[in-house]
Amino acid sequence: MFEVCYWYREFRIRAMTPQIPLPVFDLVIFGGTGDLALRKLLPALFHRFIEGQLPAGSRVCGIARDRIDDAEWRERVRAALARASDPVDAQTLERFLAVLAYRALDVDGTAGWEDLAQWLHSGDGGRVRVFYLATSPTLFAGACDGLRTRGLIEADSRVVIEKPIGRDLDSARAINEVIGRAFEERNTFRIDHYLGKETVQNLIVLRFANALLEPLWRAEHIDHVQITVAETIGVEQRGAYYDNAGASRDMLQNHLLQLLCLVAMEPPATFDADAIRDEKLKVLNALTPIDAHNAAQHTVRGQYREGVPASAATRAYADEVGKAHTRTETFVALKAEVRNWRWAGVPFYLRTGKRLPERVSEIVIAFRQVPHSIFNGDAGALVPNKLVVRVQPDEGIKLWLMIKYPGPGGLRLRRVPLDMSFASTFGVRQPEAYERLLLDVVRGNPMLFMRRDEVEAAWRWLDPILAAWERDEAPPKSYPSGSWGPNASIALIERDGRTWHEDAA
Ligand code: NAP
Repeated sequence: MFEVCYWYREFRIRAMTPQIPLPVFDLVIFGGTGDLALRKLLPALFHRFIEGQLPAGSRVCGIARDRIDDAEWRERVRAALARASDPVDAQTLERFLAVLAYRALDVDGTAGWEDLAQWLHSGDGGRVRVFYLATSPTLFAGACDGLRTRGLIEADSRVVIEKPIGRDLDSARAINEVIGRAFEERNTFRIDHYLGKETVQNLIVLRFANALLEPLWRAEHIDHVQITVAETIGVEQRGAYYDNAGASRDMLQNHLLQLLCLVAMEPPATFDADAIRDEKLKVLNALTPIDAHNAAQHTVRGQYREGVPASAATRAYADEVGKAHTRTETFVALKAEVRNWRWAGVPFYLRTGKRLPERVSEIVIAFRQVPHSIFNGDAGALVPNKLVVRVQPDEGIKLWLMIKYPGPGGLRLRRVPLDMSFASTFGVRQPEAYERLLLDVVRGNPMLFMRRDEVEAAWRWLDPILAAWERDEAPPKSYPSGSWGPNASIALIERDGRTWHEDAA
């Protein structure tokens, strides 16, 4: 029964979703045995395969140092798909596994490259080559140089790299230089998987395909904006990476700033990748600098301590990463401002953290209060309108409006949401961000990827904040696991007479 439902649902999705054809491609995943490849990339490809969207003849090759063969890698992928996907019929699964190959190769060595070259040359000509660097950035130079010196990069071969792109402006530039020696910028796809989420793309449509919102989308009507990306989990197995990064480098520099850009950008002249990225870049360049002079007023750093009741899931951050002391922030809140005519004076409150009470990513556009209330106090308080764009989970949009509570007995005001959940409105599975992004790489559509200048502008703004924290002798403020961060984060917004949005409030 379960499988029948699954196939019926898939049939409906296929019937409803128009599909743009793809060229035949070869995808080489450096780091093919790693977490990203097995947990995200291959399940995403598999879902597209189920929907019949991978053109016949397309192939995928996993690369890592482990000396395994095609069959062993396929078994690892099979196990990963069983964890990540609903059950499917055995034939479909076998057909997918048959497009997978594996070549053992140390990118910093010389052995194995000939095998990869042979695999690439064994396909028909005219196919798009995509090299996905799902490895530590320290391996990018070896991978790019190895591909370039062996002539494996063709004119329209593409490279995909993941965040973190550096840990500051200098290291980001160094990575971009390494990639730029081998691939043209137009063929370089820097993934911020948040941009592949349906609601994030919908933000562009919501703003620029509706005459209703754009006239209100400015300081005259918007009081402030909140962007929250909250996780309930701690660092889990990623302690070594995370302790060197922290919430600012892991989430703020990329996901939160990208969301801010989409909210704040001016209308691009066309729906074209560079037109949109030009507008996002202008927003990043217009952010008010925060540095040692004002970091204490505009930013809050936190680190989670043990929660209640004590358990493995509520352990303190320092215990999780096995250190007696660490100054890495697992929470950050800040007040940003975009200095231009549209947004002058409108605060953008951003916050992100681990071990918060709820897993939620959302953007709240808080409108101004009506200029004058005609209702008397007995009717109840007038609450300003809010537009809440929920990025995950339960992707959708809520517009909070004031209405009259139904019934006789006087006029009472009530705040209610116009609620559009995408899942229930369209009745379709929301595709994982990587499903869309991988296909966009194959199509050569860079719209949802970060351009080099965007990444560098984001670091240019963040670096002085990180430097101010570095100089500050005080450690991050501690907060109990399972809370909404340090009290200072609440104070940051309440000092301005505002509060963090709560859905039920
Ligand atoms: P991971 O699980 O540690 O996997 C690393 C992969 O690289 C393994 O397949 C490893 O296999 C391979 N590798 C290591 N050294 C190599 C070498 N010298 N030559 C060839 N292959 C080598 O890491 P991950 O979590 O997948 O993350 C990969 C990258 O994506 C990192 O930069 C990470 O920050 C980023 N990222 C990951 C996620 C995620 O969800 N995991 C999300 C966003 C960004 P062998 O050791 O067998 O060689």
